[in-house]
This record gives sequence, structure tokens and C-alpha cells, in this order.
Amino acid sequence: MEQPAKAPRQNRTITVDFQDPCTYFRLISDGKAFVEFVLAFILALGFQLYHKASCNGGGCLTRHSHYARIRLGGLTIWRIQCTSCKAVFTVLPQFVLRYRRMSPDVAQQALIATHGGLSLEWCATICHISPMALYRLICALGQHSLVTVLVKCRLPLPTYILVDEKHSHCLTDRVYLPTIASGRVIWHLGYSACKSAAAFTESYGVFQQMALNHEPSYQVKGALTDGFDSTVSSMRTLFPKARLGFCLRHALNKLPEKLVGVSASVRRGLRAKFHALLHRCRQRKSLRVVALGQRLRHFAHRIAMTVSEAHGARIRHWFETKKAGWYAVLEDPRMPAMSTVLDQAHNAMDRKLFAMKGFHHPGGSQGAFLTGLAHLYNLIPYQRRALNAGKCGVEVEGGVLPTPDWMINLQILTSGGYRCALEPPNH
Ligand SMILES: [Zn+2]
Repeated sequence: MEQPAKAPRQNRTITVDFQDPCTYFRLISDGKAFVEFVLAFILALGFQLYHKASCNGGGCLTRHSHYARIRLGGLTIWRIQCTSCKAVFTVLPQFVLRYRRMSPDVAQQALIATHGGLSLEWCATICHISPMALYRLICALGQHSLVTVLVKCRLPLPTYILVDEKHSHCLTDRVYLPTIASGRVIWHLGYSACKSAAAFTESYGVFQQMALNHEPSYQVKGALTDGFDSTVSSMRTLFPKARLGFCLRHALNKLPEKLVGVSASVRRGLRAKFHALLHRCRQRKSLRVVALGQRLRHFAHRIAMTVSEAHGARIRHWFETKKAGWYAVLEDPRMPAMSTVLDQAHNAMDRKLFAMKGFHHPGGSQGAFLTGLAHLYNLIPYQRRALNAGKCGVEVEGGVLPTPDWMINLQILTSGGYRCALEPPNH
């Protein structure tokens, strides 16, 4: 069971990149220069501060109070205050983590090792920290929703989404990770003990709510699933106007299972023909749905003639139940046709979760932990030999990052005191 979320006080911490620590130590002795530096930094990011609801953010900022972080050798931390709404923002330099003694450098090493699939225990060992400290760090990142962080990177909310659930285990129980992705970015990674439509609707509903908070008119135009009933009906409930398509690659991989008792070589041949059929329909510029309908009928007929009448009937029946979802893919050229990138995201998650069995206990903060892992997935750049080498998923999708350093980006983007400005400042 997931622990119920407490309603915490608004976190108004902001991480500011002072680059050289010397700059920070020089500025903390000069109140006016300090506030000016912080304001210029916020302006350069194109962010706004998270003021109180009543405030239009038009007031001035003043230096409010300071305190010493004893655990960090008495480091002085300043707070700044809005003169209108009195909201107080804690300014953390980039070389400090919120509530943590662990340095960002150590955290960076441990997080990249985690992201690479090393177990928490091994990451902790090589970085000289405790596995629990690393677990808590990832959970703390996961307190910030994926939508909040991604819109700060100026990614538009996804209009076409890939939706699927990853099967995993919590000790011996089967659990499900409802996931929404768009291209190389994960927008939602939930946790559910049950695979009912109601459970999935609840999980995907969290994404919908976050998206609506950001943009009240948000609508999904198309969703691609593998055709699983609970997933399809949860999408129908949440996004009644969306086109619901079924992944063509899943269809391709399912075909051989429908040909039980047929020799492997014949099944391979039919799979290749089915692949060519789907491909040719997607290549067409017009009448794609009509063409697919015709070709599916011919394909089933051919199986009935060349394999057996029973197999032909079975394939025809399967086509009947799935074709609406395939038509939906072909009706709109912007619809994704395959969920391959989502499968890749799931495989990446699987490696991490497999290495972290010890932390799958029923009282854990699975939701926060998974969201934290998804932030890493979105923000850590791909390796040098990969296709999009040096870029992270957010950049591949056209997002804008605060700095070239992914760890500082992670700190800035998960700062509760920032919110994205509605219009990027370009003048
Ligand atoms: Zn204010």
C-alpha cells in the first residue's frame, strides 16, 4: 500500500547556480548585491517565484533572514521575502542539497550509478553513503510531479500519448506501474496494486489533474495503448474525446500466438506479410483505413485457404476485435503507431527495480520513488555512444534546460519555490 500523501507546507526553496562557491561567499556579505544576483538568475531562467495565491508577484523582494546550516559546517543560508504577500523563499546555492548533508557531487555520482542500473547498495558503497540516504534522496526528488518539472523545461503538455503498464513485483505481490510517455519523456509513472480499470483511472487521473492545473483547457487528442481492457477503459473515462489507437507492433507480435499448431517457418512468413501489410497502409497518403480494412479481409481469407479454415476464422475474429484501434492509428497522421519508446522506458525502469528488490516493502514510498527515477530518466543525458549522445530525453523532445549540468538542472527544476512563467521572456 502506498502511504497517504501528507499536505505539506508549500516548499519555497529555490536553488540558485552561483557557479563558483567564492561568488556565493562574497555575495552573502552584501544584501543588495545578493538579491540582485538572485533576481537576475530567476529572470535568466524565465521562471517566476511561487508567491502566495493572493499575490500577483508585482512586489519587491528583500533579504529577510538568514540561518546557519550546522551540518554543513555553519554555512550561511539566506531567505528572501516578497514585500506584498510576505512569502519567504530559502535560497540554496547549487553546492548544497535541501535538508541533506550529502554534497551534490556525491549525489550526482550515486544517482548516475542508480540510473545506470546499479543496485542502491552498490551505488551507496562506491559513493560512501548509506543505501537509505540514496533511497530518500530519490523519494525527495519524486515529491515533485513530472508535469511540474517538464513544463518548467517549456515542453508543451503532450497531445498524443503512449500509455501502458509495466508489471513489477512488491515482494511476492504483483504490482503495476501505469505509465504515460511522449517520445523520449515520461510524463507519468504511477504505482498500483491492482490492474482494474478503476485503479488505472485513478493513477492516470493524477497526471490529468496535474496537467489541468497547469492548463485548464488541456485535452488529449490521441492515446496509443496495447489494447488491454483496463487501460482502454481508463483512457475512455479520462479523455472521452481522444482517439484511442492500438500499437501496431503489439499486433505484429501477437499474430504468431494466434497461429497455434502452425510450423514456425509458416508463422514467420505470415508475420512478415502482416508487417508489410501494415507498413504499406501507413505509407499511403489517402484512404488508409479503407485500404487496411480490405487488406485485413484478404489476409484472413488467405490464411483460411493456405493454413486452415479454423485458423482463418480465428484471425478474422481477432481482427474484428482490434481493427477499430488500428484504424484509429491510421486515421490521424499525428497518431503514434508504435509504443517502442515506451517499452524502452519500461525496460530501463525494470533494470533499476530488479536491482532494488530490498526496497520493495509494502510500507515504502513507491509512488515518490518511481517518480524520482522517472525524473532521472528524463534529465540524465544519454551516453556517448547512444543515438542522441549527450542530450537528455527532455532536450531530444525540444525542451529547454536551465544549465548544461544535469545535476544542477535536477536541483533547480525540483525547487518548490519556482514555477514556470506562462510566457517565456524573449524581450
Ligand atoms: Zn508575493
